[in-house]
Amino acid sequence: MHNLYIGGRWVHSSSGETFESFNPATKKPIGAFQQGNAADARHGIDAAEDAQKKWADTPAPSRAKILFNIRDLLIKDKERLGRLVTTEMGKILKEGLGDVQEAVDIFEYMAGEGRRLFGHTVPSELPDKFAMTTRLPIGVVSVITPWNFPIAVPAWKTAAALICGNSIVWKPSSDTPMCAVELVKIFEKAGMPKGVVNLVTGPGSPVGEELVTSKKVGGISFTGHRDTGEDILRKAGIKRVGLELGGKNGIIVMDDADLNLAVDGIIWGAYGTSGQRCTAASRVIAHEKIAGKLEKLLLAKIGKIKVGDGLRKGMDMGPLVNEGAVKKCEKYIEIGKNEGAKLAYGGKRLKNNGHFFSPTLFTKVAPDMRIAREEIFGPVLSLITVKNMDDAIDAINSVDYGLSSSIYTKDMKKAFRAVREIEAGLTYVNSSTTGSEAHLPFGGVKGTGNGVREAGITGIDEFSSVKTVYFDYSGRLQRAQIDAD
Ligand code: NDP
Repeated sequence: MHNLYIGGRWVHSSSGETFESFNPATKKPIGAFQQGNAADARHGIDAAEDAQKKWADTPAPSRAKILFNIRDLLIKDKERLGRLVTTEMGKILKEGLGDVQEAVDIFEYMAGEGRRLFGHTVPSELPDKFAMTTRLPIGVVSVITPWNFPIAVPAWKTAAALICGNSIVWKPSSDTPMCAVELVKIFEKAGMPKGVVNLVTGPGSPVGEELVTSKKVGGISFTGHRDTGEDILRKAGIKRVGLELGGKNGIIVMDDADLNLAVDGIIWGAYGTSGQRCTAASRVIAHEKIAGKLEKLLLAKIGKIKVGDGLRKGMDMGPLVNEGAVKKCEKYIEIGKNEGAKLAYGGKRLKNNGHFFSPTLFTKVAPDMRIAREEIFGPVLSLITVKNMDDAIDAINSVDYGLSSSIYTKDMKKAFRAVREIEAGLTYVNSSTTGSEAHLPFGGVKGTGNGVREAGITGIDEFSSVKTVYFDYSGRLQRAQIDAD
């Protein structure tokens, strides 16, 4: 039985209820967890509130030492944690290890921020007056995370929140509570003071809802489905809210592109993590001159994708996270067929013990079809054919989301036009839609979020409050705008 972590102690939920987490490759249970409720969430918030001031008063370079310890422990435990990621959410081991490596990278980066956390020093318009900005923590931060990057996404949020001096109550996805428990054990081992990080496992409602609505919470950092994000925004009231939501990411392939390179990028983007990445490529927008050849090359590669338990050697694609995800893919296969798209490959649940779904390709897709506009979150790729660059830009921008995007071309002009005109937070040139690095900002536009950028230096902005300081040492009343020359 795995408990909640509140105020530095592993405790039972006051609900007395528990739930299980399952391996999606085998459907076998991998552990039982406390089903937290609103009262548990409140306890977590109270513990975080009690611990926050002392943590904020700890010099940032000292806070950073604990983050460096976390980084070191993650490196030591990488293999075990990577296997756990694969076991609990299904991505193949190589990607499970990548999930942990992303956490290593972000803890290293944010620990380095402990000796920076820069503000600005700027001239005042008045003499003998000093003007600057400094960063303060927000206070208690609620962290609500999805299952698809069960170590990396929580690491992005917690590392940045902690270095800024916030305390945290974390509600992980109910599909990946084991990864969460193991990450918190690492925080504990690294020397995190009691109450600074609290873990409350349990359902979105009521646990997540309490973390969103509590007046004691100053900020919320959420990654997940767009509907959940919109609900959170409605309920949060006046709080700092960071939303990282869904995507419907496209890859443009122009007629001058290196097609083999493009195919490798498309396969990785569309079928890596079984299409369950927010940055997954779910649309290919191909110039009509090369669309036929691209389709053939894609089909040849898709046919070779090995689907199976991600812990087994040689697998390219693991299962979907749960039965609901398989049903959602099945539903969209029917929608696609009914809309008149051609099912060129796959489209079926695979008959074995787990939640496996075949890599799928739809061709003859129009940009306005539902399969080309709605987030399926599975290995379902739509091939759209366009006449020219103008149509390609229109097609890629025709969705409500704007997270990641890519263009394959050898023409610098087209590449820079894509960078300028594609409505997305990320644009890759001659590489896939996925592959963010910890020291660069990450986030989207339009329905993908509310403008927050996680990771990199902008990750600090999400979790700190900027204070402007005027220091007047003139010894007389000086009025801005009035006494300035
Ligand atoms: P969900 O929105 O279903 O769940 C995310 C988290 O929110 C879970 O911890 C969930 O808890 C919790 N939650 C559910 N309902 C509420 C509520 N009413 N109030 C507060 N919290 C709640 O998303 P998924 O876990 O299914 O993740 C997949 C989604 O995440 C996709 O849309 C994907 O695109 C997006 N995503 C976006 C990323 C980005 O950076 N833009 C990165 C990764 C994923 P519980 O599990 O208990 O239901």
